[in-house]
Amino acid sequence: MTGCIFCKIIAGESPGTIVFRDGQATAFRDLLPAAPVHILIVPNKHIDSVNALEDEDEQLIGHLFTVARRIAAQEGIAEGGYRLIVNTNAHGGQTIFHLHLHLLGGSRMKHPMG
Ligand code: AMP
Ligand code: ZN
Repeated sequence: MTGCIFCKIIAGESPGTIVFRDGQATAFRDLLPAAPVHILIVPNKHIDSVNALEDEDEQLIGHLFTVARRIAAQEGIAEGGYRLIVNTNAHGGQTIFHLHLHLLGGSRMKHPMG
């Protein structure tokens, strides 16, 4: 989508530290990491948010979790643990309107959230 920063990173038109890419998804390091490991996993096709998902996206969303599992292992945080977050709209704190899964790990997360 024109003007979407994550679409530009996926297309290689904006800088990003890409750690994974396949036909359906791309993962890159968050610009302002909130944890020692902070990676964003995004579908290659533009989807605004969870609210914009369609039934046929179910496989794609499952794939984002598969990618998260692989990256967690690759980054050495699988055993210690990690947090996966998807923010949606204002109350969820979404700031970039290209659906993304935050993978956070490498230190103990605070609890509770919110
Ligand atoms: P959210 O608030 O859930 O929409 O998350 C958006 C995330 O994107 C934030 O953690 C930002 O730090 C991150 N971010 C914004 N711009 C970039 C960028 N150009 N490259 C990597 N991460 C970014
Ligand atoms: Zn986009």
